[in-house]
Amino acid sequence: MTVTRRDFLKVCGGTATFLGFSKLQVLEALAQAKEGKPAVLWIQGAGCTGCSVSLLNAVDPDIAKVLLEIISLKFHPTVMAAAGEMAMAKLYDAAKTYDGKYFLVVEGGVPTGANGHYCMVGEYKGKDVTMLDLTKRLGHRAAGVLAVGACAAFGGIPAAKPNPTGVKSVQQIFKDNGIKTPLINIGGCPPHPTWMVGTIAHILTKGLPEVDGYKRPKLFFNNNIHDNCPYLKHYDAQKFAKTWGEKDACRVKLGCKGPDTNADCYKKIWNNGVNWCVDNAICIGCVEPTFPDGVSPLYEQTTG
Ligand code: SF4
Ligand code: SF4
Repeated sequence: MTVTRRDFLKVCGGTATFLGFSKLQVLEALAQAKEGKPAVLWIQGAGCTGCSVSLLNAVDPDIAKVLLEIISLKFHPTVMAAAGEMAMAKLYDAAKTYDGKYFLVVEGGVPTGANGHYCMVGEYKGKDVTMLDLTKRLGHRAAGVLAVGACAAFGGIPAAKPNPTGVKSVQQIFKDNGIKTPLINIGGCPPHPTWMVGTIAHILTKGLPEVDGYKRPKLFFNNNIHDNCPYLKHYDAQKFAKTWGEKDACRVKLGCKGPDTNADCYKKIWNNGVNWCVDNAICIGCVEPTFPDGVSPLYEQTTG
């Protein structure tokens, strides 16, 4: 098949490279995608759906391109039209058809209390289906798993103390049940759209990306926010903000967790390049496994 320069420019937003990939690599990904799009099953557990909303904000390439041309999304509880038993049948059919070849995306933590019944995702043939059931069953047979967002990757807010529903991360569920499927964690509450789309692009072009000790792609989580922050010169000069309105001062005394956080938010910027957390507030360390218990209180009270 022929992949044109127009295809390339569309997926790259008119620029010469996309996420650091060369033109050739992106063309190869497009060619591969158009010839045999990988089947993706996206399931949601204990979370707020913010990761899906963030993904829908992807602009470079846009989400229509991702869903229609790069992957074949077979199941997504929020955006699919089917509901009830019909939706569950679709999910199980797809898992059977693409057995061992599909990619599983997990959004949200996995409640384990009450034998998983704190998070019911459906019914099938008269039986309850819990998020715990699905994560084990689909995770076991997937080619690879993306745990998307703080909750799936590390437990996140649903697993915060006292964690009454016994929420666990996907990697903990896998460990508890001896599941060895390759897993990538994409932290963030929510993750930046390019972390999700970029990881998929990397898998299509080069295979699984290199990951850090928390199984996060180094491509996005290798650099410290504080070391790259535009306010670093103020930190070095010991000029610290006491109120949100102060723009020419470092925000560490307001509670900024940038010194302990590794992500490229300072470079990617959020909301289609409009701003990022530290512009108007602070970094709360949302990509780290310690979020939120280990970084609370998120804000510090300052005095006069
Ligand atoms: S605002 Fe945060 S990330 Fe930026 S220099 Fe201050 S402490 Fe570091
Ligand atoms: S700046 Fe900090 S809190 Fe904001 S998205 Fe990035 S890692 Fe999360």
